[in-house]
This record gives sequence, C-alpha cells and structure tokens, in this order.
Amino acid sequence: MTTATTPRPFWLAGRAAAGEGTLEVTSPWDGATVGAVGVPSRAQTEEAVAAAADVAHAFAATPAHVRAAALDHVVRRLGERAEEIARLITAENGKPIMWARVEVSRCVSVFRWAADEARRFNGGTAQRLDADAGGTGRLALTRRFPYGPVLGIAPFNFPLNLCAHKVAPALAAGVPIILKPAPATPLSALLLGDLLAETDLPAGAFSVLPVPNDEMPALVRDPRLPVISFTGSVPVGWSIRDSVPRKRVTLELGGNGAAVVLADYASDADLDWAARRIATFSNYQAGQSCISVQRVIADAAVHDRLVPRLVTAVEGLVTGDPSDDATEVGPLIDENAARRVETWVNEARDAGARVLTGGTRDGASLRPTVLDGVPRDAKVSCEEVFGPVLSVSRVEGEQEAFAAANDSAFGLQAGLFTHDIQAAFRAHRALEVGGVVVGDVPSYRADQMPYGGVKDSGVGREGVRFAMEDYTYERVMVLTGL
Ligand code: NAD
Repeated sequence: MTTATTPRPFWLAGRAAAGEGTLEVTSPWDGATVGAVGVPSRAQTEEAVAAAADVAHAFAATPAHVRAAALDHVVRRLGERAEEIARLITAENGKPIMWARVEVSRCVSVFRWAADEARRFNGGTAQRLDADAGGTGRLALTRRFPYGPVLGIAPFNFPLNLCAHKVAPALAAGVPIILKPAPATPLSALLLGDLLAETDLPAGAFSVLPVPNDEMPALVRDPRLPVISFTGSVPVGWSIRDSVPRKRVTLELGGNGAAVVLADYASDADLDWAARRIATFSNYQAGQSCISVQRVIADAAVHDRLVPRLVTAVEGLVTGDPSDDATEVGPLIDENAARRVETWVNEARDAGARVLTGGTRDGASLRPTVLDGVPRDAKVSCEEVFGPVLSVSRVEGEQEAFAAANDSAFGLQAGLFTHDIQAAFRAHRALEVGGVVVGDVPSYRADQMPYGGVKDSGVGREGVRFAMEDYTYERVMVLTGL
C-alpha cells in the first residue's frame, strides 16, 4: 500500500496525463489512503474520444500478429508483477489477498485467450451464391469489421479482471477502447494501462479515464462511441441502454444466484461438498460478486442435514484483515454498503426469518450470515444483496425447486447439485439464466465461455471471443463474374 497522495496520471490516448481534479482512493478495511488519481477535464475526455475515433480505421487494419504480440506482452508483465498487482487490488477493493491473487491469474487467462483469438479471429468464409440463377458467377466473402470505438464501463468488485474483459477483446479485434473504471477502484485499471503503454499499440487505441459519474451520460451519448460494454448495477445499466437505443450495448448486471440441492445429492460426502462450496462462494469478496450464492434452494429430503453443515462451514470461514494470507472474508466496499445489508437482514428477521449465524456488523465488515425461513418478498431474497448473506429455503421436489430458482427478477447463473444427468438436462431447459453449473455453485466462470444474463441481469455475452463478436459485425463482399 502506498501513502502517497500525489495524484497518479491516467492514460489518455496511450500517454500519461495529469488531470484537473483528484480522486482519493481509500482502503475499505482501515480507511487508510491508498492513493489518488487525476480526474480528466471535459477537454481531456474529448481528446481521448477524438483520438479513438481517429485511429479506428488504422487500428482495425493492424496485422493480427502485432495485436497478439501486444497482448502477449501484457500476459508476461501481469505474471512478473502478479503479487504487486494483487496487493493493489486488496488495498483499494478490500478483497482478501487470496482472492486478489485469483483475480490476477484470471486476468492473465483473459489476455492469453485474447492473444490467441487475435491470431485466429476473422477467418473469412466464402459462400457460393449460384444455387439461385441470379447468383450465377457470384461468390460472397464475409469478414468482421468493428462498429467503432468501445466505451467500457467497469464496476468495483473485480477492479482488474472486469476491465480486462472489456479491454483485451477490444484490442484483440483491433477496436479502440475507452475504459472507465469504478470511482472506488481506479488504481488497478490504471496499472493495467501501464502495461498496455509498454506495447506498440497505436496512440488512441486505449485510454483509461476516471471520468466522474455526472459526466458519464454525455460520454455514453457520444456518437463516436457506437459500442458500450457495461458491467455494474441494474438501474445504471438499463438507464444507459434506454438513453442510447441505437447503440450496441452489452449489459452485465446483477443477480441473486441460486444453488439448488436436489434430493439425490444426499450422501454425507455430497452434503459436505455442497455446504463447503456454498459457504465459500456466498462469502468470497464478502458476497460482492454478481454470481455469488445468495439463495440455497434445498429439497426437503436433504434440507435438515444440509443446513447445520452450512452453518458450520460459514462459521469456519476466516474473517478479518484482507492482507493476511489466511483471510477468506474481508470488508464490503464501504460502511454504507455494510449498513444497507445489515438493515436488510434486520428487516428479514422482523418478518420472521431465523438468523442461524452472523447478522452483526463492525464498520464495513459484516459477519457471514445464514438465514432460514426467509419470506419470499424479503429484500435479502428477492433483491441483489451484494453482501455475505445466504437465505435457505425448503422445497418439495424438482419442479418446485426450479420454480423457486426462477422466482426472481434476475437470471445470471444457477448452480445445481445433483448426480442425475437427466435432472441436469431438465434444469438446463427450465432455468431462466445465462448459465447452469452442474455439481457446483453458480459462481463458476471460465473466461473463455459465454457469460451473461437474461431478465434484469442484462443483455449480450462476454467471454473473449463473444465480446470480440459483439464489438464487430459481418460485412459481406459479393464478387461477380467468377
Ligand atoms: P455501479 O452501477 O454503481 O457502477 C458501475 C460503473 O458505472 C462505475 O464505473 C460507475 O462509475 C459507472 N456509472 C455510474 N453512474 C453512471 C452513469 N449514469 N452512466 C454511466 N456510467 C455510470 O455498480 P458497482 O456498484 O460498481 O458494481 C456492483 C454491481 O455490478 C452489482 O450490481 C453487480 O452485480 C454488478 N456486476 C455484474 C457483473 C456481471 O458480469 N454480470 C460482474 C460484476 C458486477
């Protein structure tokens, strides 16, 4: 952690620039100053957008091997600086160092996939058109071209890797990107900018701008940025989409992920595994993950044996200083967030829920909490908690379980604990989510798979190749006289 308060520069069209304002970054754990970053003026933001628009055509024409080499460079440098970067994530975000290390390794994987995809993306296809008489002598070739520069907007909870999920596919596809990190966690994004600045990418290919929130609507509407890739909260995300209906907008928003435990998942070993996984992944990043487990839907056949195991597993989690190697659960992003979650837990208790463990708060830290008998309309059940709180409910049979999982405004991912492959396929059909994880919690994400939600949870898919497709469109060339 640094105590320096001299604002560090941001990245404006590939060069370091001092801002006009200053944004202080403090530790969610102890309130210490972690650093400060410069805030761009409107003129500087305008300069970055103009540079991105200017370079767009030239960048799209950059040879794939040049883009791939730049991405490979980032892979190497992330590896060399992994521990330092993980400590920075912990300092500004408050997530335990063990999870920050995982985030850095995930970021390495995103850039590695992007380097690979840069090499193989855009292999054009040729299509004969002479199946119809009018197509005699004609051939269609298809290649993907960028819509134009991307505006990537990132949340605080994975301050490095969710930036990587926007930046790496853009650069792999030859698309300039303006990245806007979350105000609480700009330092990891700017450090990623440091690594990009070491490459031969053309000026204007990337900017990392901590633009103030009240200036974002104007940037969102800027016609020179035809693609918006947003990860963050439900209201902000959908309001962005509503404000620019003609733009291509990907929304990766919130969820209240369910883990469904079916009746066949009943041996001691099964229930121990399910309880351990659910306990860990309802509390990793203090529950501040869009795919953390918020709801456990347990068949009546296993409910009473699962619940005590869950309580034991949750109580066994090591809480405390996120910079300690052993800590599994740290603070929330700030005290206001922890107060909100505490209020929701109290409301649920007042409405009849039983607090089996946790429920108490100390500053920004909330003790990992397990609730049973939560009314369906309690906020801890039907809204996104984004805190270390788990609500268990009991259901009778598979159909009721799937209906309970779907009884949500969200639809990001679901976990299904069963050994029955037929039940897994039935769940895959029945659950209204972007992904079903069988044999584990909903919190599993591999960076190359399509990832995203339905319902309030968003629209579009990330995952390196899917984001590259999202940033580009197929343009056909018809050849005549062949
Ligand atoms: P947030 O919506 O408050 O902020 C996200 C980003 O949007 C920040 O960079 C913020 O500065 C910016 N922003 C704020 N107002 C804006 C506006 N009017 N126009 C444009 N940008 C604006 O979200 P957060 O609190 O940082 O992150 C938590 C949320 O993110 C949770 O709901 C979580 O579920 C969601 N999330 C989703 C995914 C996913 O992949 N589905 C992943 C991580 C987090």
